Amino acid sequence: MIRINPHYKKLQASYLFSDIAARISDFSQKNPDTEIIRLGIGDATRALPAACIAAMHEAVDEMGQDASFRGYGPEQGYAFLREKIAEHDFAARGAQIAADEIFVSDGAKCDTGNFQEILATETRVAVPDPVYPVYVDTNVMAGRTGAFQDGRFENIVYMPCTRENDYLPDLPDTDVDLIYLCFPNNPTGTATTKQTLSKWVDFARQNKALILYDAAYEAFIRDETLPRSIYEIPGAREVAVEFRSFSKTAGFTGTRCAYTVVPKECRAFDKNGSPEMLHPLWNRRHSTKFNGVAYPVQRAAEAVYSEQGQKQVKAIIDDYMKNADRICREMDALGYSYAGGKHSPYIWVDARTDSWNFFNALLEKTGVVCTPGAGFGPCGSRYIRLSAFNSYDNVDRAMQRIRKALG
Ligand code: PLP
Repeated sequence: MIRINPHYKKLQASYLFSDIAARISDFSQKNPDTEIIRLGIGDATRALPAACIAAMHEAVDEMGQDASFRGYGPEQGYAFLREKIAEHDFAARGAQIAADEIFVSDGAKCDTGNFQEILATETRVAVPDPVYPVYVDTNVMAGRTGAFQDGRFENIVYMPCTRENDYLPDLPDTDVDLIYLCFPNNPTGTATTKQTLSKWVDFARQNKALILYDAAYEAFIRDETLPRSIYEIPGAREVAVEFRSFSKTAGFTGTRCAYTVVPKECRAFDKNGSPEMLHPLWNRRHSTKFNGVAYPVQRAAEAVYSEQGQKQVKAIIDDYMKNADRICREMDALGYSYAGGKHSPYIWVDARTDSWNFFNALLEKTGVVCTPGAGFGPCGSRYIRLSAFNSYDNVDRAMQRIRKALG
């Protein structure tokens, strides 16, 4: 008799974005003349860089000729892309990552979600709270948690990130094997320093733990002294897997290209405490379940590293960061405490009230949409997330409306 995976029954329906959509639609019906400005969604709004488009066109033309047509590519990604990644994203920052330690994929969402598959079911998992929900839900599906109670799953260690601790998780004081870290963080927008990251690397080394490091927003880091990769920290190669994405870096949210780094020394342990390497296992998993990213998309991603591509990507990110700066200035003027916005497109505002109440009031009074922090975990329930993914004009008008309503 066919049965479903019982762990899927523990999952909580994610009402966040559907609830937001329903409230917007209700508001629009009642206020047809109010233009809605969306500062809620974390999706790129600017067109792909011209260098990427040119490379993609060229690759499409190649696919249209028998002589240059390409069928299945290497599951790990074409060497032309992996070599550029190794050189620009790692060697240039003093981090040694070889091209064959890079696995090109169609998204950091899938990779952060899938990686836990190669780890034991008994793995004790720690996540920040608030959290990008994929880390939690995929561990629920894998059967690593108990029931959902008071906004949290049993058997997961939640690491609170609030105004009180500068939105940075403290080292766990219970046994954990797997730690999810995300910097710059979604949703809080906080970045981390090399010193802080070193503490995590040391912790993982001492506790035989593994760090899954999500650096999907590294392109927004403005301060060159801050780490863009965990491999800038000595000793990280043994204890950390890193996830990167072209989604936010170069507007690939609809084009799909990302990559995961699994260094050859990166290890788990067998029951006797002997190291077992993760690279061959992830390679096995990736090549069994994935057949590679489309050739024209990999060519477009490669173009991100060209001289023109680098300039264009920087200009787009700079524009988003101008929006972030505009939001930060308004929050300063209104006296709201917030995190993020300096090295991240997200501004995490202490709403000083229930996040859904604030969401409703903001929509009613201004027509501006934010994301209620409650959707990211119990520690988010008094915060809202504002996103810089929009045009400057829209952000500026949204801020003017907010000043008028809340100032
Ligand atoms: N990781 C974080 C922290 C994110 O916020 C997102 C998307 O919003 C992703 C990963 C997903 O990236 P991708 O588009 O590569 O799947």
